[in-house]
Amino acid sequence: MKKITLWKPDTCDCILLYEWDDQIPNDLRVHTPVEENIDHAGLGIKTRRCDDHQESDLGKLHGKVKAENTKKNIVLGLIVDQVLGASEERIERDGSKSKILKSDVLSWSFDKNRKLVIEIKDAKIDKNEIKNIVDSKEITIL
Ligand SMILES: [Zn+2]
Repeated sequence: MKKITLWKPDTCDCILLYEWDDQIPNDLRVHTPVEENIDHAGLGIKTRRCDDHQESDLGKLHGKVKAENTKKNIVLGLIVDQVLGASEERIERDGSKSKILKSDVLSWSFDKNRKLVIEIKDAKIDKNEIKNIVDSKEITIL
């Protein structure tokens, strides 16, 4: 059955919709961007383009937003995995343990050129350690 999922990325104010088919196995599933979703009552949710993402082409819009979101997730994941003092352990509902970013260690945002900016808030964190694991051409570290 075809389903439409709404995605509000945490990297900007876009609202994106994509269609997928739950009859197709996960590893073969295709997510197709759609402009709007009208429900049975005739109520609609439309794609919202934030100030930084005005692409009219839906595929390009989804690609840009997803690329920024993925980059942010990869960078934060590297920091959690590799930077001393940046992470803490979390116990999941099933009892397994995972490492998450400590709160108040850093903040992140995107500048006007959509370059990822990482601001270190904890003086115990070594900025050079972060500079060594991320590409500083693409990311600003404050
Ligand atoms: Zn956006």
